[in-house]
Amino acid sequence: MNIKKDDIFTFPIEDLSSDGSGVGKADGFTVFIKDALPGDLARVKIIKVKKTYGYGRLLEILTPSPDRVKPLCPAARSCGGCQIQALSYPAQLRFKEKKVRDLLTRVGKLTGFEMLPVIGMDDPWYYRNKAQYPVGTDRSGHLTAGFYAGRTHSIIPVDHCCIQSKHTEDILPAVLAWMDRNHISAYDEKSGRGLVRHVLTRAGFHTGQIMVCLVINGRKLPASEDLIHTLRQISGMTSVSFSPNTARTNVIMGDSVQTIWGEPFITDKIGGNSYQISPLSFYQVNPVQTEKLYAAALDFADPGPEDVIWDLYCGIGTISLFMARKAAHVCGVEIIPQAIDNARENAAINQITNADFFVGKAEDVLPEAYEKKHIHADIIVVDPPRKGCDKALLDCIIQMQPRKLVYISCDPATLARDLRILEDGGFKAEKVQCVDMFPHSVHVETVVSLSGK
Ligand code: SAH
Repeated sequence: MNIKKDDIFTFPIEDLSSDGSGVGKADGFTVFIKDALPGDLARVKIIKVKKTYGYGRLLEILTPSPDRVKPLCPAARSCGGCQIQALSYPAQLRFKEKKVRDLLTRVGKLTGFEMLPVIGMDDPWYYRNKAQYPVGTDRSGHLTAGFYAGRTHSIIPVDHCCIQSKHTEDILPAVLAWMDRNHISAYDEKSGRGLVRHVLTRAGFHTGQIMVCLVINGRKLPASEDLIHTLRQISGMTSVSFSPNTARTNVIMGDSVQTIWGEPFITDKIGGNSYQISPLSFYQVNPVQTEKLYAAALDFADPGPEDVIWDLYCGIGTISLFMARKAAHVCGVEIIPQAIDNARENAAINQITNADFFVGKAEDVLPEAYEKKHIHADIIVVDPPRKGCDKALLDCIIQMQPRKLVYISCDPATLARDLRILEDGGFKAEKVQCVDMFPHSVHVETVVSLSGK
């Protein structure tokens, strides 16, 4: 049978795609349907037909999935932040674990690894310590800020986000009021005009310290005294800054930051260490789960007092310093210079003297140190961004033959690809631990322990 646009079918939803859409079969033809969940019996209108699959719109749920729940957030369906709030939390965890297992076996062609039970949150709400709110102008010309709708850049105003730290809730209204009062414009992506692009907020989970950084399409911030005066009223405010970004790009932050009030960083704690975090530095967004993630990584690495560890993609040195207390020496490598400044300072404030940090691309720094200085590593930890590790880095790790490799990944697809390369190079993936860092989104963090030859 030929499936056409506008055809209507009723069928059960059988699976969830990696982006959180329901997947079912209309007369044997695979259809992806936003907002449908496995277990739903759904009436679906076909909206787009490709060669081997199509897209449908959910018209009606005839029988709801037993895993379906009422989302806490009224904007859950339209906001791009959460994709699977309508799925019960236990079902979310099952979905994530299955996604990782499937990718590792199908894409990575891995066998014989042990999958440990996924680590979820006891209370999966209000967990995020960081937000980047886009600022814009709505149809009636009023300033607005919130989150992007799914797959678009239209802004959904959000005054209460159910996954965001409640400590930063007053910041956005205060910034919008300051803009209104001082006739400060919002940036418009289409024309490239207007000033305020994004508001970055961060809260220290253990310290209560708060940071605000405005990303602006310009070099100077007008009415900054008024902004400082307003933001200082918010309890915990520690750092107010702006980051110029005049490029016509989707990259949020500029490449520099000017502090206009307070410290150029906030401080937070993980597992007994204190960490200074500046606006441009990466810092895990879920502080409760970060402790569990790092504990799993430490358990897998299992360093002894003689061991030399290389921590690649080290950010502000969180994992490096976590492991340094149990090892002979740790070297961290990170591309963002401001993060390395934080890492060195963090070593100092925690009285850790056996850690060194290097700015640069992991795929440049490690091969160069290996070839020119003949460094060695007993244990290597990698924690790359979603695109995974560069091939040159994996080749170097294979040559260096550490006893142990710990791969921390925020994208199981690139993880599976890289693990295949590492296994072909003689490593063996032994244990896989998923940690739910991002409840209600489709994203999942995975830690893998690999043993060397
Ligand atoms: N391990 C840290 C940071 C992980 S996020 C933590 O747990 O906090 C990934 C980090 O890799 C980011 O800090 C990013 O700036 C950095 N990065 C991205 N590409 C890189 C590259 N090619 N070489 C080194 N670091 C890189």
